[in-house]
Amino acid sequence: MSSLNPLERIGKQIREVLELHAWAGDPRRRVVEVLRDVHLPCPESLVDVFPWQLSGGQRQRVMIAMAIASEPAMIVADEPTSALDVTTQAQILALLRELRQRRGIALFLITHDFGVVNEMADRVAVMRNGVVVEEGAKRDVLARARDPYTRRLLGAVPELRARTIRRAEPYPPLLRADHLTKTWRTRGRLFGRGREVKALDSVSLEVGQGETLAVVGESGSGKSTLARALCCLTRVDHGRADLHGTATDYLSLPARSLQPVRRAIQLVFQDPYSSLNPRRTVGQSIEIGLRANGESAAAARARTVELLARVQLDPAAADRYPNEFSGGQRQRIVIARALAMRPKLLVADEPVSALDVSVQAEILDLLDSLQQEEGLAMLFITHDLRVAARMADRALVMRGGMMVETSSMERVLADPEHEYTASLVRAVPRMTEAGSVEMPALIER
Ligand code: ADP
Ligand code: MG
Repeated sequence: MSSLNPLERIGKQIREVLELHAWAGDPRRRVVEVLRDVHLPCPESLVDVFPWQLSGGQRQRVMIAMAIASEPAMIVADEPTSALDVTTQAQILALLRELRQRRGIALFLITHDFGVVNEMADRVAVMRNGVVVEEGAKRDVLARARDPYTRRLLGAVPELRARTIRRAEPYPPLLRADHLTKTWRTRGRLFGRGREVKALDSVSLEVGQGETLAVVGESGSGKSTLARALCCLTRVDHGRADLHGTATDYLSLPARSLQPVRRAIQLVFQDPYSSLNPRRTVGQSIEIGLRANGESAAAARARTVELLARVQLDPAAADRYPNEFSGGQRQRIVIARALAMRPKLLVADEPVSALDVSVQAEILDLLDSLQQEEGLAMLFITHDLRVAARMADRALVMRGGMMVETSSMERVLADPEHEYTASLVRAVPRMTEAGSVEMPALIER
């Protein structure tokens, strides 16, 4: 999003590249040609569109069009798909492979995802702290890494495989939600007019005490709206939810009666940088909730120290400010703050999506052990099926605000009910097969 100028039309931005490289031919024709080369729809009219009118995948195609406009010998692609959905990522990677094969353009691809490495690369160099620690043919590095850091990175890659089922018998009921429905009014995208988005369309789910339910879906599928609705941060239009099998629909309670619910259900957000108040020390951030619960200053401080230890942080962290911590450490702080309320259910909305793979694995381990030790239930929201498979026995797949299916993780991966689920599974970059996975024909949204 930030690498295109939001104020200039697409056509003009590509023409600037051509001017910069003193392109000899007709620039207008070339612009349309490269937009067609990257398989964007209606290249002739796209010239007059602004970047914000395009989806993330379409913007990345425009970036690639700019990169190939002057017929380069090599493209340097710096994490070109890290911000994209898995199906969109698969399409962009397919496009880059096609450009390499058809035009012989060399690709210098920077990525943190070994699945992407496996599907794209001939050779791979692994970097750490500014030094190449290992370099070689992809096959050798992936199968027989020599460097310990490479081996650790490879070990942290979540595999697309259902974990062993934790518990066969049903869990005691904790949360039950029925027919949650929510419509947002938004501005349109391409050539947009105002329109309504049904972010939740009759979504129903159950989570048992101590169970993890993964919610899987691409961006815009309504996952965060679901999280916010269940935490009473967003009011739904229809639907109800109760806790512990009671008949009370807590979604319809007035704000002043919500406190017990707000304590029982804690939310961990995706972005650990914006979910902590930068002007409060870590200790203050955690203690504020404890004090509001009536604990004395001394008790709140003692519990904070205990919680920091629980998430494997130094107790001295309490007196420091969020900006002194890395993303992974901040996520630990956010988790400690959530645990302070002794919740029954943790709603984790993409809690590791902003983190590197090795840090991601640490946070997933932490959440997993906390869950086992505290008997916490979790609604684990992710766009990454690999992470879902690592964390949950059951998954709810969402698309466009609707439930596509709810199945065991094993079923989702091996024998999904719905074709959409199957296409999500196919689009995940694999570590186990050679880079030849055929992409399903998917419509970019
Ligand atoms: P996800 O978390 O799966 O990416 P979201 O729940 O954030 O999905 O969004 C679902 C849909 O609702 C999207 O089309 C999004 O643009 C829209 N939406 C979400 N929040 C708002 C809001 N506050 N105002 C208007 N539209 C929203
Ligand atoms: Mg979201």
